[in-house]
Amino acid sequence: PRQFFVGGNFKMNPISRGQKATIISTLNSADLDSATEVVIAPPSLYLIPLRDIVRKEIQVSAQNCYFKDSGAFTGEISPAQLVDAKIPYVILGHSERRSLFHETSEFVAQKTKAALSSTLKVILCVGETLQEREAGQTASVVEKQLQAVVDVLQESDWSGIVIAYEPVWAIGTGKVATSAQAQEAHADIRKFLAQAVSSATAENTRIIYGGSVTAANCKELSTQLDVDGFLVGGASLKPEFVDIINAKR
Ligand code: 13P
Repeated sequence: PRQFFVGGNFKMNPISRGQKATIISTLNSADLDSATEVVIAPPSLYLIPLRDIVRKEIQVSAQNCYFKDSGAFTGEISPAQLVDAKIPYVILGHSERRSLFHETSEFVAQKTKAALSSTLKVILCVGETLQEREAGQTASVVEKQLQAVVDVLQESDWSGIVIAYEPVWAIGTGKVATSAQAQEAHADIRKFLAQAVSSATAENTRIIYGGSVTAANCKELSTQLDVDGFLVGGASLKPEFVDIINAKR
């Protein structure tokens, strides 16, 4: 039994401290399904203030980190610094980082390994572009992204990972994957984990879906056998994020 997981990736929003307070007061006063693990990932500037004001049932995540603990790496934040600030999670390999900031799967793997060895938990994002899907390469692209991580981790490391399947064509487009498309991709990922890591890892690892998730489409997606939750972008900044957290109710 894998615990349902819902993450809110705020990306580079909100841009004012006032907006931030509104999102948090909505979450703090909402009736949330206590069976769901909830994580919010604000811009790094807001990690500590948000950790301090958000209700204790909601955990906070960074959106990225580097793989070194300290040093001359201008603009970066380290796993050790996040641990020191009592931030339990980090998102790594988001498609925006892969495409806009040229992060390779090997680089994402290196950061994943460093984060886990610092005791951070990792929300590891993978997913194909529209062109790759149309060429029938969805499974092979996702497997390649995961293989880079498999190559550098021990089996026990996988207990600290949540995999987010986020097809690039669904991110921020309003074009959500159908529940059949999501289920197929998640089942393929689980099969890959069984073969590349272990059957226990395949069985225990949460695989969550991201890409245009809303209150209107989350319930049907959540009924799929291998969909263990969501990573929500745009809708995580709105009151409907509460309905997504409560998708399994
Ligand atoms: P949207 O929910 O805005 O499509 O973003 C998904 C995402 O990238 C979450 O990490």
